[in-house]
This record gives sequence, C-alpha cells and structure tokens, in this order.
Amino acid sequence: MMHYRGRVFRPPFEENSLLLEATVGCSRDKCAFCSLYHDTPFSPSPMEDIESDIRFIGRNRTRFKRVFLVGGDPFTLPFKRLRRIGELVNECLPRVETIGCYASVRNVLAKTPEQLNELAALGYSGLNIGFETGLDDVLAFMDKGNTVDEAREAFARLSDAGIPFTLNLVMGLAGAGRGIENALANAAIVNEAQPQLIIVTALNVWPGTKLHDYVEAGEFAPPTLREIIEEEAAFLRATECNDTFFFGMHELNPVRVNGNLPQDCDFLADELEAGIARFPEHQLDAPIRQIMR
Ligand code: SF4
Repeated sequence: MMHYRGRVFRPPFEENSLLLEATVGCSRDKCAFCSLYHDTPFSPSPMEDIESDIRFIGRNRTRFKRVFLVGGDPFTLPFKRLRRIGELVNECLPRVETIGCYASVRNVLAKTPEQLNELAALGYSGLNIGFETGLDDVLAFMDKGNTVDEAREAFARLSDAGIPFTLNLVMGLAGAGRGIENALANAAIVNEAQPQLIIVTALNVWPGTKLHDYVEAGEFAPPTLREIIEEEAAFLRATECNDTFFFGMHELNPVRVNGNLPQDCDFLADELEAGIARFPEHQLDAPIRQIMR
C-alpha cells in the first residue's frame, strides 16, 4: 500500500508516471494567487515511507518509466534526501528513466552545481517550475520569493547540469493594462532559458487567496479576458525557442491551444486572436474575477 498523506496535484503530462509522495504541502505556501496548500502544512514525507513505497512498486514489477515526486515543491528536500530517493529508484525500479517533481527557483538555487550534476546523473529531469512572470515588481507583489535574476540563475544552473525543465506562466498576473509588458518580459526570460515545456494558465482570483483580498481592497486590478488572450498571443509571437512544447490547454484558459515552438508559433498566436471573436464584447472587456466558480 502506497503512502499518501496530502492532496495530490500533478501536471497533465505526468498521467503515466508513478506518483511518489516525497513531501506534503508547499514549503512556501505564500504566493498571493495560490491557495492549493493552505489546508496542508508542509512536511517532508518520512524516508521510511518513501523507501517502502519504492520497494513496494519494485516488488510488483510495474512498467513505470518515470517517477514524479508528489508535493508542492519536493525539490526543497535536502540534496542528500533527493540523492537517496534517486538511488532507491535506480536500485528498485530499473525501468524508470527519469525522476521529476515540482520545484521552485529557490529550491534549485539551494543546490550547488555539483549537486545538480549528481542529481542529473541519477535521472532527475523535467522539473516543473512555477516561474509565473518575468516582472520583478509583480513577483514581489505576489510574494513569489525570488527575483527575475534569481530565476535566470536557477535556469542556467539547470541547463548547465543537463536537467531539462518546464516553466509555468500565469497570463494576466501583472494586472490590467500590463499584458503586453508581461508578455515581452516573459518571452525574454523564456528565450534565454530555453525550457523543454511551457505551460500557461490564465489568472484566476481564487477566494481564500491574498490576491482575492487585494482585489476586494482595490489594490490589484484584474485584467480583462481580452487582455489575457492578447497577452498569450503576444508572448508566443515574441518567443524564440529552439525546441519547446507549448501547452495552453488548461481549463482556465479562455482559448486553448498547444503546439511546438518555434514551428507552430504564428499559427498558435493566430488561433488565439481568432478565438477572441468567439466571446461577446461584454465578456471580453469585463475584468476577470473568478472564471471558474
Ligand atoms: S504557487 Fe507554488 S510555490 Fe507558490 S504557494 Fe502555490 S504551490 Fe507553493
């Protein structure tokens, strides 16, 4: 029997991965737009449970090719714990080729280049990072816990170690009137970082978040639906990716597209702009509050 103590969230691309709980909750749990782990205090999973789960799966001769460590940001675990998990996976699950997890910029910067090299050699690959925005003032306002330059440093360290990564971006996070500015800032960082995968999600103002309070207090003006779609299209047109998959199919996204960059770049942007016509004007130009209720 596997040990799961917390809620399990995973990226859509991990549907065939072994979901192995390594942490419960998020070590930060402060980002203004996020309430995912408010009811789940952070704690590392006991190493005995992790080892027991890996050995249990190993005894059952399953065919998993990838392990995805579950929790808000399992890469926050100390290097030695991540190394031990990697060693156990290699020992007990010989078919597994890669190990991924959610990770923050701070989690990456807490590891030395040598440690990242060692984790890469153990199979760590495809880290899923909440980058959110390339604007420093927005990162600070949203209490993300890192600056743009720190993010750039983290992405460079991962690339140097040969650890591919996914960047998550939130369309509309800079608020009303700043969509194009956000798009260009995001594209500049993405062009430098060359992630394996980009996942974009439209901003939603969830009840129970600090962002919800900011909106109620008039301290944050949410963008309109039109601005969110135009921001995504502008972002795509400004990207210069060598080989990146773009995933914009999240259920929060008003127009859903995905494809390969650079070849599908203009097509995807055209689709987004054409999608604007599907909405009535009164919806397009009203500030989003909460798309899903
Ligand atoms: S956005 Fe990510 S890092 Fe921030 S609180 Fe939510 S799960 Fe934690």
